[in-house]
Amino acid sequence: MSGRILVVDDIDANVRLLKAKLEVEYFDVITADNGPDAIALARKAIPDLILLDVMMPGMDGYEVCRKLKDDPRTRHIPVVMVTALDQQENRVEGLQSGADDFLAKPIDDVALFARVRSLLRLKIVMDELRQREASGRALGAINDLLPDAAQEDTPARIMILEDDEHQGQRLSEKLGGDYIHVLTCDPREASERLRTERFDLFIVNLAARGFDGLRLCARIRSDEKGRLMPILALVNGDNRERTVRALDIGVNDILPRPVDKNELVARVHTQLKQKKYVDTLRQSLDASFEMSITDQLTGLHNRRFMKARLDDALARAARGIEPASVMIADVDFFKPVNDTYGHDAGDRVLQELAVRLKANMRAIDVVCRYGGEEFVVVMPGSDDIAALQAAERLRIAVAAEPFALGQNQRSIDITISAGVAQIRAGEDNEAALKRADHALYRAKQDGRNRVVMDEQSIAKTASGQ
Ligand code: GH3
Ligand code: MG
Ligand code: MG
Repeated sequence: MSGRILVVDDIDANVRLLKAKLEVEYFDVITADNGPDAIALARKAIPDLILLDVMMPGMDGYEVCRKLKDDPRTRHIPVVMVTALDQQENRVEGLQSGADDFLAKPIDDVALFARVRSLLRLKIVMDELRQREASGRALGAINDLLPDAAQEDTPARIMILEDDEHQGQRLSEKLGGDYIHVLTCDPREASERLRTERFDLFIVNLAARGFDGLRLCARIRSDEKGRLMPILALVNGDNRERTVRALDIGVNDILPRPVDKNELVARVHTQLKQKKYVDTLRQSLDASFEMSITDQLTGLHNRRFMKARLDDALARAARGIEPASVMIADVDFFKPVNDTYGHDAGDRVLQELAVRLKANMRAIDVVCRYGGEEFVVVMPGSDDIAALQAAERLRIAVAAEPFALGQNQRSIDITISAGVAQIRAGEDNEAALKRADHALYRAKQDGRNRVVMDEQSIAKTASGQ
């Protein structure tokens, strides 16, 4: 793993020592010897990690950290405080200023690299999410109006796995009442519920005698669903080896035992804040993906999605796996509907039409709005006969019942015409759609409110190819 690390310390010897250690492991190291320079450099060079000395003249490490975390340009960069004062108050103050972790001076190499690797791994995941979100925004697919579930104030759910009930209870009391705590001493119950229920954090005692916490963490990490589950591990303060193993397995944070209440609260807070941020990014990505394949007026899939599914169907037909057909339907005399009743009434007809299309096609059929008052249905697994029947069923479903134009408004009769073509091995999606479109044109010419099969599909069926 490589990355760019900013080392900040007012004592030149400290800077040089850390730089040398990190460079041996192929990290790209940049340095600063005071707070303001560190902030300026962080903004300019955007390092992947910052190792920040606490005790510096002028602006101390806490203040530097607060400033970095207040700035949207540098907020996402993990900060590890390097402190000679290995005392609880300082750790808590550091966590409150937004630090992601601590290292005590003199720096232990193994602990250093375990922390660095762990934070860099997490940052890679975050960077990818942030990047995808940024490109979604640039494309206009993401905006701030999208639902943001992370804003909802549901209390965080925390799973605690402790050695025995008494210890679990004590931990839960220290954690306080702002969260929903689920306490267990059974590792199987913990992993099962983590898999099936929503949790925002998993706290596990790695010093437990009753179960192998490390193994459990490794298993959670290897599971697709548990890959991003924040894990906070309790480790005996002097157990360096276990701390390193835990970080290497992918535990997000370590809390030394005996557990200090304030440090517990601060670390839990940091993990939950991080989780919320990741959730928000993921939700807006999911929503933008959904938007990019959905037609806004009708909620049907859009043309882009349809083409991709049509390509799948073509590929399967070409390999002889199964036939497939495509249908294009167009509303008859739709312009007069708009002209007579208004555009909104026209929109309502299109929405109702979408509902009827969906209701009358199979779940595997891909129903989309092709544009305007045209709809396309891709029918995987359907040959021309089956497709013709489906299209006819649909035509009848539209013609059978009048369409309501709105509340307290009249209903009008609507009909559609449709063209159907069976996909031919070797053609592309344009060619298949074109044949269906020709058939639709004939349906219009023959008087509308009817379904016509593409001639080439019929010829193929007749000759039994
Ligand atoms: P034909 O039977 O030959 O298909 O006649 P038509 O009137 O349906 O066809 P034409 O292509 O002349 O008109 C289509 C109309 O569909 C024109 C356009 O204003 C309307 N339209 C297209 N998209 C929308 C939409 O999103 N909402 C509404 N309300 N109308 C739309
Ligand atoms: Mg110093
Ligand atoms: Mg029309």
